[in-house]
Amino acid sequence: MSVSVTPERCSGCGFCSIACPQGVFEMKEGRSHVVREEECLECHLCEVSCENEAITVKDSG
Ligand code: SF4
Ligand code: SF4
Repeated sequence: MSVSVTPERCSGCGFCSIACPQGVFEMKEGRSHVVREEECLECHLCEVSCENEAITVKDSG
């Protein structure tokens, strides 16, 4: 899988880091960063939580 944040769309609200059960995101300098992509379960909760559509999760396989 791959998880990405489009930085220019991110408002820094932090909802994705709260929504993710795996701790994939960390908030730094007012933006969300993907820090543990390998832990992603492809649940897509982060995409749903982001009102700015800043997150893309691409499923493997
Ligand atoms: S939910 Fe979206 S806008 Fe909010 S911090 Fe995460 S990526 Fe940024
Ligand atoms: S798809 Fe689920 S596990 Fe993967 S980063 Fe988003 S919220 Fe976290």
